[in-house]
Amino acid sequence: MEPNLRLCLGCAKPIRGRVDKKFCDDYCRNNFNNRQNSDQNSFVRNINNILRKNRRILAGMLPETEETVKVKREKLSNEGFNYGYHTHLYLTQKGQTYSFCYEFGYLQLEHDWVLIVKRKGE
Ligand SMILES: [Zn+2]
Repeated sequence: MEPNLRLCLGCAKPIRGRVDKKFCDDYCRNNFNNRQNSDQNSFVRNINNILRKNRRILAGMLPETEETVKVKREKLSNEGFNYGYHTHLYLTQKGQTYSFCYEFGYLQLEHDWVLIVKRKGE
């Protein structure tokens, strides 16, 4: 391999010319940038989908007439709930941490129980 051989970030072919060149030309530069953007967009889209699904599952568990409901952790998992994603956390004065997916949250209890709550107001 010749010294200072640089490969185009767009097409991976060797680049000739200035040392600081990263692309053959504008075509390769655009291709590369478009690819980067669509990767980032699909990453964001996937996470948004997971969060929306989590929210839908929590909403479906909580009867309209109730403020909270206790369900088994497994019941949420079976619906496809993903415990790895939430929008924010809420720490109570008692030191309990609720995980929220938008306005619906949950607290993990003992023995694989989960307490589902809905944010009040606003
Ligand atoms: Zn190229």
